[in-house]
Amino acid sequence: MHLLMTHERLQPGSEEQLSSRELRMREALNVLVEGFDEITDGDGFQRYLEAMSKFHRYSYGNVLMIMAQRPDATRVAGYRQWQQLGRQVRRGEQGIRILVPHKQRIRNAVEENDEAQESRYVPRGFGVGSVFDISQTEGEALPEPPRPQDLEGEQAPSFWLADQLRDYLDDNGVLLELGELDGPKGTFHPVLKRVQLQVGMSADQTAKTLCHETAHFVADHAGGIPRRDAETVAEASSFVVLHHFGVDTSEYSFPYIATWAEEQETLLRNLSAIQQVSDSLITSIEERARFGADLSDFRDRDNA
Ligand SMILES: [Zn+2]
Repeated sequence: MHLLMTHERLQPGSEEQLSSRELRMREALNVLVEGFDEITDGDGFQRYLEAMSKFHRYSYGNVLMIMAQRPDATRVAGYRQWQQLGRQVRRGEQGIRILVPHKQRIRNAVEENDEAQESRYVPRGFGVGSVFDISQTEGEALPEPPRPQDLEGEQAPSFWLADQLRDYLDDNGVLLELGELDGPKGTFHPVLKRVQLQVGMSADQTAKTLCHETAHFVADHAGGIPRRDAETVAEASSFVVLHHFGVDTSEYSFPYIATWAEEQETLLRNLSAIQQVSDSLITSIEERARFGADLSDFRDRDNA
């Protein structure tokens, strides 16, 4: 598939430069889209999406009610939804109480064929409904999402890249904290301007995750953008940047992006953001590295 024609405009007289830099990015983006398609076109992924669509998004208040009654709940759904997923609530299990809005249909005799008819419901107070956690049910296993494989490589460019990213964050006033994160490998907090990174990961995984969080910063992800787009841009940019410096993260990145983006359209509509973020990071890293190299040349000469 060759979707990536956005870089047709060449810089005047820089065909040579394009060959290394831009071509490498184009290649990375093509690999990314193909890898994404390979995962998302599969039957397994389609079954997974179908199952996920059965799970309702609960309101904030209901999430709090669920957590108060069953703190270890992981996936909840109504009795009938579980049946549709091929699972049965076990006999004697107590439902988790949630609030269910009672909706009343508003009739409008004049506009019989109003297109907006479906939405002509207004909430009229709340009733109490029951849902059940997956641990209260038995039956068919739920389809699993594709799992990102932790990167185990300890490649030299990864050590170098992690150093460069650390300096980049420092230059831009972003605090980097290393520690035990209890779950996530990294986090980015836009208001505190802080990146947190799990300690003890492989060099490849460390560079990949640090680049992902840095990409959130570069892309200025601060709410307002749907999480699926933000995660798609951050992980895809991280893939492109590491690819540029010779580290392949596809085993981790592709399943991660597939799970967030779900459809090719999500990936495609974010391609220009991915290009911008990757390009900005690669440029900064290369310029800084060149500057650093010049400085050390200078120091060497001085010592001689
Ligand atoms: Zn992220």
